[in-house]
Amino acid sequence: MFKKLTEKLFGKGPTAQQQDGFFLYVRCSDCGEEFNLFINKQFELVQNFREDGSVDYLLKKEIYGVGCRNHILVTMEFDGKKNLKSKKIENGEFIEE
Ligand SMILES: [Zn+2]
Repeated sequence: MFKKLTEKLFGKGPTAQQQDGFFLYVRCSDCGEEFNLFINKQFELVQNFREDGSVDYLLKKEIYGVGCRNHILVTMEFDGKKNLKSKKIENGEFIEE
C-alpha cells in the first residue's frame, strides 16, 4: 500500500526497482551440468539469530539436475548487511567468473 502511494507521488526511481540479488553459477561434479541461478536476497536468505544477539543470514540451496541423480548442496553465510561472508558446496563446484 505505502509503496504504491509513494510511487504515485514520486514516480519510480531507478534504485527502488533494482533487484537485490546475485547470480550463482555451479557445476555438477558428477555429470558436469552447469546451473545458473538467480538468488533473490530478499526472499531466499534466512535470518540466523546468533547467541550474542546479532543477526546474520544464511542461504541453503539444493540443486537437482535433470540428467543425473546427483544433488548439489550450496550453503552461503552473509553478515547482517547481507554481504557474503563464506560459501561452500557439496557434490559440485562453483564456477568462478
Ligand atoms: Zn549431474
